[in-house]
Amino acid sequence: MPEIMEIFEKSGALLNGHFRLTSGLHSPVYFQCALVLQYPDYCRQIAEKIRQYFSTKKIDVVIAPAVGGIVIGQEVGRLLGVRTIFTERKDGAMALRRGFTIAAGEKVLVCEDVVTTGGSVFEVIEIVKKVKAQVVGVGFIVDRSGGKVNFGHDQYAVIQLSAQTYDPADCPLCKTNVPLVKPGSR
Ligand SMILES: [Zn+2]
Repeated sequence: MPEIMEIFEKSGALLNGHFRLTSGLHSPVYFQCALVLQYPDYCRQIAEKIRQYFSTKKIDVVIAPAVGGIVIGQEVGRLLGVRTIFTERKDGAMALRRGFTIAAGEKVLVCEDVVTTGGSVFEVIEIVKKVKAQVVGVGFIVDRSGGKVNFGHDQYAVIQLSAQTYDPADCPLCKTNVPLVKPGSR
Protein backbone atom coordinates (compact mmCIF):
# COMPACT_ATOMS: atom_id res chain seq x y z
CA MET A 1 0.00 0.00 0.00
CA PRO A 2 2.73 2.65 0.68
CA GLU A 3 4.03 2.30 -2.87
CA ILE A 4 0.49 2.68 -4.20
CA MET A 5 0.00 5.94 -2.25
CA GLU A 6 3.31 7.08 -3.73
CA ILE A 7 1.93 6.37 -7.20
CA PHE A 8 -1.10 8.54 -6.41
CA GLU A 9 1.05 11.40 -5.17
CA LYS A 10 3.43 11.18 -8.14
CA SER A 11 0.51 11.28 -10.58
CA GLY A 12 -1.01 14.38 -8.97
CA ALA A 13 -4.15 12.35 -8.34
CA LEU A 14 -4.64 13.46 -4.73
CA LEU A 15 -6.41 16.80 -5.05
CA ASN A 16 -7.17 19.27 -2.25
CA GLY A 17 -10.01 21.78 -2.44
CA HIS A 18 -13.82 21.56 -2.25
CA PHE A 19 -15.34 18.76 -4.25
CA ARG A 20 -18.78 17.39 -4.96
CA LEU A 21 -18.45 13.59 -5.04
CA THR A 22 -20.64 11.34 -7.20
CA SER A 23 -22.46 10.43 -3.99
CA GLY A 24 -23.51 14.07 -3.62
CA LEU A 25 -21.38 14.53 -0.51
CA HIS A 26 -18.80 17.33 -0.32
CA SER A 27 -15.15 16.75 0.57
CA PRO A 28 -11.86 18.65 0.87
CA VAL A 29 -10.06 15.70 -0.79
CA TYR A 30 -10.60 14.06 -4.17
CA PHE A 31 -8.92 11.05 -5.77
CA GLN A 32 -8.74 11.57 -9.50
CA CYS A 33 -7.98 7.93 -10.29
CA ALA A 34 -7.91 8.71 -14.00
CA LEU A 35 -4.67 10.64 -13.45
CA VAL A 36 -3.05 7.47 -12.09
CA LEU A 37 -4.60 5.10 -14.59
CA GLN A 38 -3.37 7.15 -17.57
CA TYR A 39 0.03 5.51 -16.94
CA PRO A 40 -0.13 1.89 -18.16
CA ASP A 41 2.45 0.69 -15.65
CA TYR A 42 0.64 2.23 -12.65
CA CYS A 43 -2.67 0.90 -13.95
CA ARG A 44 -1.20 -2.59 -14.22
CA GLN A 45 0.30 -2.45 -10.70
CA ILE A 46 -3.02 -1.45 -9.15
CA ALA A 47 -5.01 -3.98 -11.18
CA GLU A 48 -2.51 -6.67 -10.22
CA LYS A 49 -3.35 -6.12 -6.52
CA ILE A 50 -7.01 -6.77 -7.28
CA ARG A 51 -6.19 -9.80 -9.44
CA GLN A 52 -4.00 -11.26 -6.68
CA TYR A 53 -6.68 -10.82 -4.03
CA PHE A 54 -9.21 -12.76 -6.10
CA SER A 55 -6.71 -15.24 -7.53
CA THR A 56 -8.29 -18.27 -5.82
CA LYS A 57 -11.71 -17.51 -7.33
CA LYS A 58 -13.02 -18.65 -10.68
CA ILE A 59 -14.03 -15.57 -12.64
CA ASP A 60 -15.83 -15.62 -16.00
CA VAL A 61 -16.43 -11.93 -16.49
CA VAL A 62 -15.42 -8.57 -15.05
CA ILE A 63 -18.03 -5.83 -14.91
CA ALA A 64 -17.56 -2.16 -14.01
CA PRO A 65 -19.82 0.90 -13.83
CA ALA A 66 -19.05 3.64 -16.38
CA VAL A 67 -17.17 5.90 -16.44
CA GLY A 68 -14.93 5.55 -13.40
CA GLY A 69 -14.72 1.77 -13.30
CA ILE A 70 -14.05 1.10 -16.98
CA VAL A 71 -10.27 1.51 -17.11
CA ILE A 72 -9.47 -0.47 -13.96
CA GLY A 73 -12.06 -3.11 -14.87
CA GLN A 74 -10.54 -3.55 -18.31
CA GLU A 75 -7.04 -3.99 -16.87
CA VAL A 76 -8.17 -6.49 -14.23
CA GLY A 77 -10.00 -8.38 -16.96
CA ARG A 78 -6.91 -8.33 -19.16
CA LEU A 79 -4.74 -9.74 -16.35
CA LEU A 80 -7.33 -12.44 -15.68
CA GLY A 81 -7.78 -13.13 -19.38
CA VAL A 82 -11.56 -12.90 -19.14
CA ARG A 83 -14.36 -10.99 -20.86
CA THR A 84 -14.80 -7.45 -19.51
CA ILE A 85 -17.93 -5.33 -19.81
CA PHE A 86 -19.41 -2.18 -18.29
CA THR A 87 -22.74 -0.71 -17.28
CA GLU A 88 -23.98 2.77 -18.12
CA ARG A 89 -26.75 5.01 -16.90
CA LYS A 90 -29.77 5.35 -19.13
CA ASP A 91 -32.38 7.84 -17.90
CA GLY A 92 -30.70 7.68 -14.49
CA ALA A 93 -30.81 3.90 -14.12
CA MET A 94 -27.75 1.66 -14.45
CA ALA A 95 -28.04 -0.77 -17.37
CA LEU A 96 -26.12 -3.10 -19.66
CA ARG A 97 -26.02 -1.56 -23.13
CA ARG A 98 -24.09 -2.06 -26.39
CA GLY A 99 -25.23 -5.67 -26.59
CA PHE A 100 -23.34 -6.66 -23.44
CA THR A 101 -24.89 -9.69 -21.72
CA ILE A 102 -24.17 -11.90 -18.72
CA ALA A 103 -25.35 -15.51 -18.76
CA ALA A 104 -27.09 -17.15 -15.81
CA GLY A 105 -24.55 -18.89 -13.60
CA GLU A 106 -21.55 -16.89 -14.77
CA LYS A 107 -19.12 -15.86 -12.04
CA VAL A 108 -18.73 -12.11 -12.03
CA LEU A 109 -16.13 -9.81 -10.47
CA VAL A 110 -17.29 -6.21 -10.03
CA CYS A 111 -14.62 -3.49 -10.32
CA GLU A 112 -14.77 0.22 -9.49
CA ASP A 113 -12.34 3.08 -8.99
CA VAL A 114 -13.53 4.96 -5.90
CA VAL A 115 -16.20 3.88 -3.42
CA THR A 116 -17.73 6.50 -1.12
CA THR A 117 -21.28 5.22 -0.56
CA GLY A 118 -21.00 2.42 -3.12
CA GLY A 119 -24.20 3.41 -4.92
CA SER A 120 -23.02 2.54 -8.45
CA VAL A 121 -21.57 -0.82 -7.33
CA PHE A 122 -24.80 -1.79 -5.54
CA GLU A 123 -26.66 -1.10 -8.79
CA VAL A 124 -24.22 -3.26 -10.77
CA ILE A 125 -24.66 -6.08 -8.24
CA GLU A 126 -28.44 -5.89 -8.77
CA ILE A 127 -27.95 -6.20 -12.55
CA VAL A 128 -25.80 -9.31 -12.05
CA LYS A 129 -28.33 -10.88 -9.66
CA LYS A 130 -31.25 -10.13 -11.96
CA VAL A 131 -29.81 -12.41 -14.68
CA LYS A 132 -29.05 -15.09 -12.05
CA ALA A 133 -25.31 -14.77 -12.41
CA GLN A 134 -23.08 -14.92 -9.33
CA VAL A 135 -21.10 -12.04 -7.83
CA VAL A 136 -17.80 -13.54 -6.64
CA GLY A 137 -16.45 -10.26 -5.29
CA VAL A 138 -16.00 -6.52 -5.56
CA GLY A 139 -12.52 -5.11 -6.20
CA PHE A 140 -11.88 -1.37 -6.20
CA ILE A 141 -9.03 1.08 -5.94
CA VAL A 142 -9.99 3.49 -3.15
CA ASP A 143 -12.35 2.90 -0.23
CA ARG A 144 -13.34 6.38 0.94
CA SER A 145 -15.96 5.02 3.32
CA GLY A 146 -13.47 4.10 6.03
CA GLY A 147 -14.55 0.48 5.62
CA LYS A 148 -18.22 1.31 6.26
CA VAL A 149 -19.57 0.18 2.90
CA ASN A 150 -20.35 -3.54 2.91
CA PHE A 151 -21.38 -4.99 -0.45
CA GLY A 152 -22.35 -8.34 1.06
CA HIS A 153 -19.72 -10.12 -1.04
CA ASP A 154 -15.99 -10.67 -0.71
CA GLN A 155 -14.59 -7.17 -1.21
CA TYR A 156 -11.12 -5.71 -1.58
CA ALA A 157 -9.88 -2.11 -1.73
CA VAL A 158 -6.30 -1.41 -2.78
CA ILE A 159 -6.33 1.75 -0.62
CA GLN A 160 -8.38 2.28 2.55
CA LEU A 161 -8.99 5.90 3.31
CA SER A 162 -11.47 7.58 5.61
CA ALA A 163 -11.15 11.04 4.04
CA GLN A 164 -13.59 13.56 5.44
CA THR A 165 -16.95 13.98 3.70
CA TYR A 166 -19.75 16.44 4.49
CA ASP A 167 -23.45 16.58 3.91
CA PRO A 168 -23.95 19.56 1.54
CA ALA A 169 -26.37 21.11 4.07
CA ASP A 170 -23.68 21.02 6.73
CA CYS A 171 -20.46 21.56 4.78
CA PRO A 172 -17.95 23.93 6.41
CA LEU A 173 -16.31 24.56 3.01
CA CYS A 174 -19.62 25.82 1.59
CA LYS A 175 -19.85 28.23 4.53
CA THR A 176 -16.43 29.72 3.66
CA ASN A 177 -17.42 30.17 -0.01
CA VAL A 178 -14.59 27.95 -1.32
CA PRO A 179 -15.69 27.28 -4.94
CA LEU A 180 -17.29 23.84 -5.33
CA VAL A 181 -15.82 21.62 -8.04
CA LYS A 182 -17.34 18.49 -9.56
CA PRO A 183 -14.07 16.96 -10.70
CA GLY A 184 -15.45 13.94 -12.55
CA SER A 185 -17.03 16.14 -15.18
CA ARG A 186 -14.23 18.60 -15.70
ZN1 LIG B 1 -19.46 22.05 0.40
